[in-house]
Amino acid sequence: MKRFPAYAQIIAALLLSALTALVFRSIAAGADEGAPVMRFIDGSLAVCAFAGDLFMRALKMLIVPLILTSVISGIASLQGVKGFGRLGMKTAAFYIGTSTLSILLGLLLVNTIRPGLSDGEPNTVIRDAFKQNAAMAGEETVASVAAAGGRKAGDFLGVFREMLPENVISAATNNGQMLGVIVFSILFAVAITRLPGDEMRTIREFFQAACDAMLVLTKWVMALAPIGVFGLILPVVYATGADLFANLGKYFLTVLLALLVHLLVVLPCILRFFGRVNPLAHLKAMRPALLLAFSTASSSGTLPVTMRCVEEGSGVSKRVTSFTLPLGATVNMDGTALYECVAVIFVAQVMGVELGFAGQFFVVAAALLTSIGVAGIPSASMVAILLILKNSGVPGAETAVVALLSVDRLLDMTRTAVNVFSDSCAAVVVAKSEGEVLALEKA
Ligand code: ASP
Repeated sequence: MKRFPAYAQIIAALLLSALTALVFRSIAAGADEGAPVMRFIDGSLAVCAFAGDLFMRALKMLIVPLILTSVISGIASLQGVKGFGRLGMKTAAFYIGTSTLSILLGLLLVNTIRPGLSDGEPNTVIRDAFKQNAAMAGEETVASVAAAGGRKAGDFLGVFREMLPENVISAATNNGQMLGVIVFSILFAVAITRLPGDEMRTIREFFQAACDAMLVLTKWVMALAPIGVFGLILPVVYATGADLFANLGKYFLTVLLALLVHLLVVLPCILRFFGRVNPLAHLKAMRPALLLAFSTASSSGTLPVTMRCVEEGSGVSKRVTSFTLPLGATVNMDGTALYECVAVIFVAQVMGVELGFAGQFFVVAAALLTSIGVAGIPSASMVAILLILKNSGVPGAETAVVALLSVDRLLDMTRTAVNVFSDSCAAVVVAKSEGEVLALEKA
């Protein structure tokens, strides 16, 4: 019997888990709390959450060794600083360019659709819903969100500090601090190229082999993806409350529309005109990674699979992927940057704060800068949103962020897929500009 391809297995798991969650919800709606059927549902949810957690842990387990080995082996093979400098400039230009485009797209749509207004006035129904939701979440949650924002307030430049960790081993123990690990790996790799021939070859081959071994491990973890995705999605769909969704329909529409236009129009156009490849073929090659990003809402967790798809599916060399993708998973977040901009302006609309040109310009710049520092984990951008709201003088920022956090999952899943796709497009465009012939051209 022919095995289903990885992406089909993940889609099947996604659909099946959503369906099961809906069935559970309708059963739970008519059952008493202590009824045996409720015990069965609660037990099933706990088993799923456990399976999902194990899968996420397995993915996260791969991140640090994969980043270290791939960045070091990739850059050490670039023949010195010159090759790396060129690649670095192109990658940085792509990341800053596409993130800016995505923010401007979000800005355009949120100012056109104006989801926070009703008949041109701030939507008080949403404002009340924010308050109600925060009251339900409890003071503790609001306080912890406020504390997270307070800690980072005014610390826009913290990202540069993160680039140079005082202790690289301790940075490597925190999946949210990969920037420092990447910078260290780059410096270490450049140092390798300065060693005498024999030493250089030995250490380079060691890291190359270690990186290959990491990709084999990734394959093993991915074999469990259908079970992991089922376990991750079922509790999420089961727990998602419908009430706040109803009030936030226009907001959801704005965010999803902007994300989809960036994913399906802007980035494919860049692939076509700058990369001169078939965008559809690349999208197809990326299916497993995009579905995994969607299911896990973590671009760091998806990184091992992103690397496999871009190398094996799109045919980009390790030389390019090993640098662009780990860096992209850490600093390039088009979907997140877009979302930060839309969310901040939406909350300002709801709260009746008119952000003029200067105010909106600040939001754009802050979204660009903070998206670099946001970790590739679920809902990481909420702290950045709080930070921008506070610095823009929008009242009630904490309550709004707590409310948005409670309905964040679907938007998070979608923006993470956009984050991952943008990284993969950078790898393709940079590889083409370096003269590589890709599998995508033949399609
Ligand atoms: N979940 C996103 C990611 O991992 C980050 C965010 O926007 O919260 O890419």
